[in-house]
Amino acid sequence: MRDLAPLLIGEDPFEIERLWQKLFLAMMGHGMTGVVGGGALAAIDMALWDIKGKALNRPVCDLLGGKIRDRVRLYPHAHSAERARELVDRGYSALKTGGVSDPLAKVEAIRREVGPNVDIMVDIHGPPWLTTKDAIRMGQALEEYDLLFYEDPVAPEDVDALARVSAAVNLPIAAGERHAHIWGVRELIERELIDVVQPDTGRAGGLMQMKKIAAMAEAHYITFAPHDGSLGPVAEMAAVHLCATLPNFLILEHLEDDVPQRYEVMQPQPTIENGFLRVPDAPGLGIDIVEEAIAHYPSDGNVSPPNLAEYTYFRARDRRAAWLHPQAPSASDEFN
Ligand SMILES: [Mg+2]
Repeated sequence: MRDLAPLLIGEDPFEIERLWQKLFLAMMGHGMTGVVGGGALAAIDMALWDIKGKALNRPVCDLLGGKIRDRVRLYPHAHSAERARELVDRGYSALKTGGVSDPLAKVEAIRREVGPNVDIMVDIHGPPWLTTKDAIRMGQALEEYDLLFYEDPVAPEDVDALARVSAAVNLPIAAGERHAHIWGVRELIERELIDVVQPDTGRAGGLMQMKKIAAMAEAHYITFAPHDGSLGPVAEMAAVHLCATLPNFLILEHLEDDVPQRYEVMQPQPTIENGFLRVPDAPGLGIDIVEEAIAHYPSDGNVSPPNLAEYTYFRARDRRAAWLHPQAPSASDEFN
């Protein structure tokens, strides 16, 4: 962003598409595209929409076509039946679980706890070592739980593997969180390999790119469910404005209880009721950043240590039964 900032000095912040192209071309020449460059572009694009909305005294959703819903459905994460119960009691009607450590056991326990009226999703996180055949077998074993979607069953870079999973598994397939810009998801959409596209508002290059991705998906009857992996509270509000305008919006991922200070960095606070986030009517993104609050929580980096037992190559040689059969003892214990 520091590299890009000089290119914006003296520019008209209303010319969002032209500025986006200018920045993108400048980065492209240095190979700085992808999700990292997409993150920088997303932040600047988000700020431009906020400036424009505040200057025109209209919410960003009005500038993106106008809202077709007043609230956006959210889903948080649950990795146990107890957590699922707690979230459903707070009003959420959709939950995601995942990982490759016993996803079947988790889904079975959660479904038993919350009953048939709560949507459940499973995210395998596209592990690079999981064989395509195993991803298919896992998906087929999950079919009986009627998932809202089966996410990143294989590494997203392997488009043909995703095609094989998609053909063999009778569940909606979701992917796209690790791709940036319209070109990153083009093949997934054009070949109709997915049923749900999941660009990340903090990575995909900005709200204009997201709106274009949603339109590409709409033409193929693919639904839109943004990822929240790099969504701070501001990007989440940007996603809410966009999702309010999309006919093919499905659901928005939401971090619940991740850090207590999550919403201290913005004002006013979001309204979350019964698992829906209300679309703000105030101008721009409908919020202001509280810089003093941000200063209290300096970033200690954006890379968290992975669970090695679950996410390293040696897991490929692990006993398969542990994750294919809920009743089998967890293999991760042996490898920790
Ligand atoms: Mg995911």
